[in-house]
Amino acid sequence: MQTFDVLVVGGGPAGASCAGALRQHGLNVLLIDRAVFPRDKVCAGWITPAVVEALGLDLAAYGRTHVLQPFQGFRTGLIGGAQLENRYPSPVSYGIRRVEFDHHLLLRAGVKMQLGVTVRTVEQRQQQWVINNAYSAPMLVGAGGNFCPIARLLDGRTGVAPVVAAQEIEFLMSPQQARDCAVRADTPELFFCHDLKGYGWCLRKGEHLNIGLGRESCSQLPSRLNDFCTWLQAQGSIPERLPRGFHGHAYRLWGSGPQNRTGDGMLLIGDAAGLARPQSGEGILPAVQSGLLAARVIAQAAGDYRQQNLADYPRQLQSAYGKAAEPRPLPGVQGLRAGLGRALLGSRWFSRHVLLDRWFLHPGQIRPAG
Ligand SMILES: Cc1cc2nc3c(=O)[nH]c(=O)nc-3n(C[C@H](O)[C@H](O)[C@H](O)COP(=O)(O)OP(=O)(O)OC[C@H]3O[C@@H](n4cnc5c(N)ncnc54)[C@H](O)[C@@H]3O)c2cc1C
Repeated sequence: MQTFDVLVVGGGPAGASCAGALRQHGLNVLLIDRAVFPRDKVCAGWITPAVVEALGLDLAAYGRTHVLQPFQGFRTGLIGGAQLENRYPSPVSYGIRRVEFDHHLLLRAGVKMQLGVTVRTVEQRQQQWVINNAYSAPMLVGAGGNFCPIARLLDGRTGVAPVVAAQEIEFLMSPQQARDCAVRADTPELFFCHDLKGYGWCLRKGEHLNIGLGRESCSQLPSRLNDFCTWLQAQGSIPERLPRGFHGHAYRLWGSGPQNRTGDGMLLIGDAAGLARPQSGEGILPAVQSGLLAARVIAQAAGDYRQQNLADYPRQLQSAYGKAAEPRPLPGVQGLRAGLGRALLGSRWFSRHVLLDRWFLHPGQIRPAG
């Protein structure tokens, strides 16, 4: 049996951020992930400057060895409808590839890791958590995403209906495809479904193209995705033939995730805690911020990990994101549906100041005191 101060289950942005910060607080951490990194993750790979700030990421250094695409404008509208373009004087977001980004964060964390190890059993023996009968610690952090085994243990549920279902593909275009592609690399495209129950995107990151569509539920996802791709192909945005099929994933937004995010000696972060933003579906920022916040709260608990000593964590999440009483089930378009709906998407003022500036670029953020 190997014994640590903290076991972190999951090595995505939440787990890597938390583990690295715990190490800096002087704790002996083991991070466990079932994947061997670099591993891919179904994601558009759009990060806001708040992610860069929270991570203290040196963009120039990162961009020298990884794909880093500055975004300075957006095309928005309804699928099949008219499009509006909004531009900004300087980059307001960045495109990254998750296969690179997550690996970078993991290496940067500098902690001991067990990769390619699936967490199958979690037992409590005296004051210790024991994973797979091999690793033990008094404190357990669940960072395993939507199907995190620690979230199941804490929440007592064996599977929560996902709220957002999405399909995505990312691939390297051939030189000919890159020349023919009508999508500008600095201008991601976001198009909403006519029923306003989801949206599709087309992001170019240098020579890589990322296409996807997310909806409130799995219903009609394949047919809407097919319509979206046919429309994009007709306008020369994406190649006629895609190199492979789309990959699917599902996740929960803030308000629809587990109600308990802490227990005695355990705590959930990132998607495991259901933190993605309801307005945009952005999940990397809450993953990083919750990971850093959790590390601070764990360090302050100084070895006494009873739930009451971890209470600052849910308190700060709630003050940043609001009360998570009611499930809020859809990305992006909740406000649209409640408001004037589709007509608003044709308004330049609305697309700039509400859709982009308020919902997609500057969502509420955790700003831990101290
Ligand atoms: C289609 C799509 C597009 C998206 N686009 C964006 C975007 O552009 N920008 C954005 O900010 N957010 C986006 N998101 C959301 C974002 O991807 C997630 O919120 C983010 O990945 C959450 O990070 P995490 O570290 O909590 O979880 P994850 O990144 O999912 O990491 C969880 C890790 O846990 C590991 N794990 C799971 N179970 C076990 C187990 N039993 N044992 C061991 N390890 C385990 C997994 O292998 C994985 O590496 C998108 C999501 C989807 C589905």
